This record gives sequence, structure tokens and C-alpha cells, in this order.
Amino acid sequence: MNNKLAHDAALAPVLVVGAGIMGAGIAQVAAQAGHPVSLYDVRPGAAQDALSKLQASLAVQVTKGKMSTDAVAALLARITPVADLHDTAHSALVVEAIVENMDAKRALWQQLEAIVGADCVLASNTSSISITAMAQGLRNPERLVGMHFFNPVPLMKLVEVVSGLHTAPQVADSVFALAQNWGKVAVHARSTPGFIVNRIARPYYAEALALLQEQCTTPVVLDACLKAIGFRMGPCELMDLIGHDTNFAVTQSVYQANFYDKRYVPSLLQRELVDGGLLGRKSGRGMYDYAEGAAKPQLAAAQTADFPAHSGVHLHGSGARMDAWGQLLAASGVVFVHDRGSDWTGLSTPTLQLRQTDGRTASSLGADVAVFDRAFAREGSRVLAWAPSVRASAACAAEAQSWLSALGYQPQQVADQSALVVARTVAMLINEAADAVQQGVCTMDGANQAMKLGVNYPAGPFDWLAAWSAQGVIAVLQALDAQYGGERYRVSPWMRQQACRQLGAPEIHA
Ligand code: NAD
Repeated sequence: MNNKLAHDAALAPVLVVGAGIMGAGIAQVAAQAGHPVSLYDVRPGAAQDALSKLQASLAVQVTKGKMSTDAVAALLARITPVADLHDTAHSALVVEAIVENMDAKRALWQQLEAIVGADCVLASNTSSISITAMAQGLRNPERLVGMHFFNPVPLMKLVEVVSGLHTAPQVADSVFALAQNWGKVAVHARSTPGFIVNRIARPYYAEALALLQEQCTTPVVLDACLKAIGFRMGPCELMDLIGHDTNFAVTQSVYQANFYDKRYVPSLLQRELVDGGLLGRKSGRGMYDYAEGAAKPQLAAAQTADFPAHSGVHLHGSGARMDAWGQLLAASGVVFVHDRGSDWTGLSTPTLQLRQTDGRTASSLGADVAVFDRAFAREGSRVLAWAPSVRASAACAAEAQSWLSALGYQPQQVADQSALVVARTVAMLINEAADAVQQGVCTMDGANQAMKLGVNYPAGPFDWLAAWSAQGVIAVLQALDAQYGGERYRVSPWMRQQACRQLGAPEIHA
């Protein structure tokens, strides 16, 4: 298809339809990049209102010295509110950011096809509607592409460029290049439910909700454990911020769009929060209570503890964590033997095995066993989930707690279930990303970029995989599957192939 962006993208006239939170932001970045922008909204006065709000927010940038008065004036002069779509026939690109409704979006495209030229590219900012389905009924469906920005648009770097079955590769490439010219990081995605970010992120919420539903721990512990590996917000506080109604709606739409695949099954707990109007920050209460004066839930405090006096201390396994533990023990005068070839990671004494989780519960491993969570390179704090075997004596559990405290952690005891908090969540994020790559939704690099830039993850799923191992992730998923059964924890075929490549051995099957 001959498209106007392919030839003269830099100053191409852009029409933004929908002057709400996203449309206003998209108009701003397009104008900032030098494009003449028309802004249209079905609600009379909405486009002008959006421009006035933008004017006020840019004035703040001038006060802060981040933009000059001239630059602001030039930017604003490039945006023209329009009251009639017929005045936008010259557009080279239309970016649609109207209500998230298929019929409304299809009707808009059909209306616009009669106005703009055949070489004008049509881009939708939809967060959940299929681009393939949206294109049905268009005269030139090959020019429709997804251009999925993230909120707030001027700040968030990611743009998912979403191709449906009809989308011409050259159209997707033009929009990709354009997004880069607008200072964004563009990532190609296939039009599948949730695209990249909203799909791969599902387990971040789902595993937290499952752990809460089973009463394994509390929101404050879950949040602290995940912030300890660098997440800016834990899943519970993040769901409270997004709103449980919005989050539940996205989960339901991904679940339905995947023909009710049990992997994406929504949570009863979240439905109860929504049904009860406990939507999060916006309603004053969700997982947490935001009322003034409400008690703030606290973590178990860090204890200073001396290393328990013991002979017969062994360190097991290799890697950065065990090296650090070895240095700490040596510096404190604890005599130990380091068995680097051990088939598990952690520490043992004659009365305790303190094992880094490999997915199995402490209770399945013995009476004198406690398990602790995985860590990843970027530790935000020393909070660490751990669990003793349900058969452990009080003395054995206390010994485990003392070792973890003496090693500098702020241990948080949770119920003994497979893979604790971090290992379980990260394994599921990696597995979801692996399935997305297997299905051609995105590349490994695309998934990493999308999660880091779209939702501020501290690392991409394949960065975590590189710091772990495919066999390790599979072991965790298989332990979860053994514990819960069903489809939720099934291993991505891509993960099995990856393990096979890494081991140089046949695929791992349970
Ligand atoms: P919004 O409600 O803030 O704005 C939508 C605007 O579109 C409103 O001003 C409304 O008057 C206007 N509108 C509705 N129907 C119209 C029509 N037929 N023609 C012209 N204007 C019309 O919504 P939003 O949050 O900006 O979302 C817009 C789109 O962006 C949706 O598809 C949404 O899924 C997607 N999106 C939203 C976010 C987000 O965080 N809000 C993030 C990514 C993508």
C-alpha cells in the first residue's frame, strides 16, 4: 500500500480523534515532534478544553525551566481543535483514542474512510480490541494498525505497534519509525488478547490474588517481597492504584478472548472487592484502607540476631547469593564447609535444612526443613519470604528465622506453599512471555522492552530467565502444577525447548 507516512513522515499532518486522557497526550507528543495536529472529539468543546489543560500543564514546565516560552507557544500553535471531521481530509495519519468500544471504533473508521485519502494510515490506541476484527468492513483494511500508547503518554516511552491479519507490514513499519521519531521505544506486536504488556503482566496480579485467597500471607508482605526485587509497586498497591474494576475488566477480557483458558482465570477475591465497591484508592479502600488515620499494616520488623552457635554448618550450591553468605559467615567467625556441588542451594546444620525454593514445599522435603524465596540481582530491600515445614518444631522454625536475620534479611513468614512469592510470580511472568514469543506475539527483546517501559518492571522476563535457568523455572511451574493441578501452571513449549537447548539433552517433561 502506498502510505503517506512512508514518504514524508516528519511533518505529516496528524489527526487525533478523542480528546480524553490518551488523545490529549498523543496530540502533545505529535506536536512536540513538529507535526501539525488536528484534535477532534465528539463532545463539543472537549478538544478546546484539552488544549487549555495542556496549556496550563506546559506553563508549569516553563516555570520549572524545562521548556522555553517560545517552545511552548510553538507546540500549542501546532494543535488545532476541529469541530468537523471533513476539515481533516489532508491527514497522513489518524490516531484514534475514543471510547473502548468496537462498534464505536468501526463506525468512526468507516466515517473517516469517506473523508481521508486512501494513503492515510489509520492507527488505533485500543488497549484490548482485536485490530484484525476492527479492520473488518474497511475498504482498505491493510492500512489499519494498532498504536498502543501508555498512560501518561508524554512520560511513558513504550508504543506497541500492533499488526492484525490485514495490516500491511509496510504500514506497521512506518508507524514504528514514526513512534521512534516521537521519542518513543516502539515494539512490534501481533494482535492477540492483551497484546504484549497487558498479557504478560497478568500473573503479577493473579499470583498475588491466589496467594491472598489461600490466606498464605497479607498484601503488605506480598508488596514488600516484590519490591525487594526492584518492582516500584507491589501487586496489591498497584491494583489499588489502577482500580480493581479496571483490572478485573482487563483480566476478564483476556480470559474470555482466550476461550476461557484456565491460565487466565479471574480471581473470586477481586470480584468480591469490585462487587463491594472496594475499588482501591479511588473509592478510599481496596486491599488497603486509605481513610485518614487508618492503621497502616506493618511488616515483621528486622531483628538483629547473632549467628546461631553451631558446629556442622554447610553451605550448599553456588552463585552470588551463596558467595555472599559464605563471606558473611567467614567474617563472623562461623566455621562451615561449602558444598558447591550440592543439588540444592542454602544452608544446613545438624538440626535444619534452610533451602532456597526450587518450587517444592518445605513440608514435602522433610520435618527439619524451611524454604526461602529466590532473589534477583537488583535487590530493593532485604525483605525475604520464608516458610517452615508444617511438621517443623518450634525450635527448628526459630533456628531458620535466626539464620535469615543473622544473614541480614528481614524475614517474613508465609504459609508453606509451592515457590513462595517471588519465585512463583517471576516463573509465571517468564512462562507467559515465553508463550507470547512462541506464538509470534513479540520477540524476546520486544517482551523485555515492553515490560520495562510499559509497566516499569525492574527487568524484562528474559532478563530474569538469563539470571535463573529454564530448568529452574520449569521445576517451579511443575511443583505448582503438582500442588494445584489444572491448566494454570502448564509449561510453555518454548520453555521446554529452551531447557533442551541449555542442557543439550532431551526436553524435560514431568
Ligand atoms: P477518555 O474517556 O479519557 O477519552 C475518550 C474521549 O473520546 C472522550 O473525550 C470522548 O468524548 C471521546 N469520544 C467517544 N466517542 C467518540 C467518537 N465516536 N468520536 C470522537 N470522540 C469520541 O478515554 P481514554 O482513557 O483516553 O481512552 C481512550 C482509548 O485509549 C481507549 O480505547 C482506551 O482503551 C485506550 N487506552 C487507554 C489507556 C488509559 O490508561 N486510559 C491506556 C492505553 C490505551
